[in-house]
Amino acid sequence: MPNRPIYITTPIYYVNDRPHIGHSYTTVAADTLARFHRLAGREAFFLTGSDEHGAKISEAAEAAGMEPQAFCDSIVVHFKDTWKTLGIEENDFIRTTDPRHLEAVTKILTKLKAAKTPDGEDVIYASQYEGLYCIGCEKYLTEKELEDGVCPYHKTKPKLVSENNWFFRLSAYLPEIKRLVETEELLILPIERRKEVLGLIEQCPPDFSISREKVSWGIPVPFDPKQSAYVWVDALSNYISAIGYGADEQLFQKWWRDAETVHLMAKDILKFHCLFWPAMLLAIGEKLPEKIFLHGFFTVDGQKMSKTLGNQIDPNELVSHYGTDASRYLLLTQYPFGVDGDIQVARFTEKYNSDLANELGNLLSRVVKMIERQFDSKLPGPHKGLASTQDLLELAEDAADRAYGEIKHFRIQGAIEVAQALIKKANQFFDHSAPWKAIKEDRLAEAGGVLYICCEVLRVVSILLYPVLPSKMIELREVLGEGSDSLNLDSAREFFCLKPGAPVRLSEPLFPRIQEAFEPSGMKKAEAGKVSDDGLIDISDFGKVKLKVAEILSAEKVEGADKLLKLQISLGKEKRQIIAGVAEFYSAEELVGKQIIVVTNLKPAKIRGIESQGMLLAAKKGKKLTLVSPTGEIPVGASVG
Ligand SMILES: [Zn+2]
Repeated sequence: MPNRPIYITTPIYYVNDRPHIGHSYTTVAADTLARFHRLAGREAFFLTGSDEHGAKISEAAEAAGMEPQAFCDSIVVHFKDTWKTLGIEENDFIRTTDPRHLEAVTKILTKLKAAKTPDGEDVIYASQYEGLYCIGCEKYLTEKELEDGVCPYHKTKPKLVSENNWFFRLSAYLPEIKRLVETEELLILPIERRKEVLGLIEQCPPDFSISREKVSWGIPVPFDPKQSAYVWVDALSNYISAIGYGADEQLFQKWWRDAETVHLMAKDILKFHCLFWPAMLLAIGEKLPEKIFLHGFFTVDGQKMSKTLGNQIDPNELVSHYGTDASRYLLLTQYPFGVDGDIQVARFTEKYNSDLANELGNLLSRVVKMIERQFDSKLPGPHKGLASTQDLLELAEDAADRAYGEIKHFRIQGAIEVAQALIKKANQFFDHSAPWKAIKEDRLAEAGGVLYICCEVLRVVSILLYPVLPSKMIELREVLGEGSDSLNLDSAREFFCLKPGAPVRLSEPLFPRIQEAFEPSGMKKAEAGKVSDDGLIDISDFGKVKLKVAEILSAEKVEGADKLLKLQISLGKEKRQIIAGVAEFYSAEELVGKQIIVVTNLKPAKIRGIESQGMLLAAKKGKKLTLVSPTGEIPVGASVG
């Protein structure tokens, strides 16, 4: 069934962060794939969205002094706007706080509760969840998050705590998932990821808890409202809640049961998508996704992207430097989709100029200028008996099929290379045929024939590159007098389609040359240590700083440091030690019992070899310094913000 509809999803992005090029990469790839399949005459539904529940979000909201929903609303806008800026045209944007999603998850959980495994056991059963709980963080920490066995923020050993949870009997579905992966009914790509999944199954991963007692910002479990749905159960369900699961049978039939279903993501969320999600679907009696494609990680200039390094490139900055289409192109051509790769920011401008301004842009402007001057801006007709057209025509003939073949295997860069090869060949053909010579020698029809062939190649290219460069390729088609009606692969398979005599006009270069290198402000910031150009920060930036009211329990001088005092403070539930440079202004005695404001989520630091777990706030002018204290009565541990 070549024309089966295709359903393509990105992961839904967690709204505790601004969109960066990591998010953008997957989303641009998904948009490109969807557009390509549509060119091939298939209906495509492209879904993206946002993941908005869980302890991390409610903490971030609290720190920002907002209700969780209002906080999510304020962040999700950045994602939606960024996707518009990148020319992303998703068919739907699902939020896990959408009522339709809540209803679907409720139905899924209800169905799971009633479901039996192939052996007739309950799929869902009550059991004790055991985990390492940090009281300071008020959450479970994973072994991975610990540093030397203690919470990295609080330097305290987390407690082994257990709570009553509902568990999913994953073990009952592993043999079936293994079979489906092996037969490729569930095709996991690239091959290394498939091996990884089969390896995971060999290790017999334990059943997983699908609910949480201590997380209040989530979807209530319908049969146990004290509990909320585990964030992954909630998040994974988006792939079917968005297309009408339990609500719109016809829509769901079309886009889940009948369509080719494809999930795209980075490889770090393999276990959830390749084990938990298929198991959940098997348990509720639904078809599995057909393809799961897990792309690699990338580094930026050889380094892992991180906020502290400041190399998290803001896609909006990329677009303001190179434009929407070229930014998509630059993201997708850095390295092949799938593997790990390195994004070299310094190469962006070079790549833009060589591929887009020189090869493609130049071919177009050389050809069109000659048509404008010699043929009164009207497309000349083809000419029989031109020399050396054979190679070019052969390359153009099956370009559409080769490019689409690459796309079917998720090789976006491969599809782009098909178009690049064609452009290169056309440039060589133009140089070799030297139409300017023919014009000089009055062989106008021959020169026109060369120009016509070049325009035909450009028309084919406008189709092949449309999924990557959508608005620029529409512009290119307009230059050639072509509309969007024939914007499809069938038309790219044909040659000699352009109508001689059609108006051909180019007012400005399609891809003007760019001189300046791209310098993400994050990188500049990291160098200069500035906050931002205008000195303003976002509410979400401020929200990262956690301030609390503390009481000073004791204070003593630090040996050999005149300015430092070692303070023991209480934050209510916990005690901490901080080192403060206030000894010139306060004696140890007068500080005891004072209420102060402390930054509680600062990375612990060693000052004169003594650990300091936070920082107090003080106002200073000239030689005067005073501690910042609450003016009214407030219990110790109250948050400030
Ligand atoms: Zn902690």
